Amino acid sequence: MKIEISLPSWLLADVAALDEEQSWAAGEERMAWVLSLARRNIEEESGGPFAAAVFEKESGRLVAAGVNRVIPAYTSIAHAETVALALAQQKLKTHDLAAAGLPAMELVASAQPCIQCFGNTWWSGVKGLVIGARADDVESIVGFHEGPLPDGWPDLLENRPEPLPNVSVTRDLLREEARAVLALYRDSGGMVYNAGGE
Ligand SMILES: [Zn+2]
Repeated sequence: MKIEISLPSWLLADVAALDEEQSWAAGEERMAWVLSLARRNIEEESGGPFAAAVFEKESGRLVAAGVNRVIPAYTSIAHAETVALALAQQKLKTHDLAAAGLPAMELVASAQPCIQCFGNTWWSGVKGLVIGARADDVESIVGFHEGPLPDGWPDLLENRPEPLPNVSVTRDLLREEARAVLALYRDSGGMVYNAGGE
């Protein structure tokens, strides 16, 4: 038995065509690319309207990218952030992206992490979280449920108990563009795959 979540072939081809040493500028350049992946995932009908990527925070090198694969992979865990984090960890052969010797890592996500992805971000070892759309956008535009996050969750990430590394949080980066991706999914009749079938 094993758990299998694969990336769509278009994304494998896109990533394979990149220069591994490319330095992605912090902020909008990284987010714009992630949003382009979310949009492509809709257009290719290869999953939900979300994408995420792990970058080395300072060098800007891409470690791993993921898109939502809940429906094609038959698992509710296949959210974009979770896929990107797991691929980054398996590529680096460690469960801990804050392990000694590794550069600081950043998760760039097209939308705010849900209850699951907040937990996975917490445990992943990333030291930065950059978000496009807010959970309110995801819920109001598409109708997904995001689950409850703790009050003050950005502060909880930014001020974690020792010895956990703090996670800087940047919100609303290219938020309007991120909202447009969600609207495209709604307008193209994308499936809302909340548990319970609502
Ligand atoms: Zn999630």
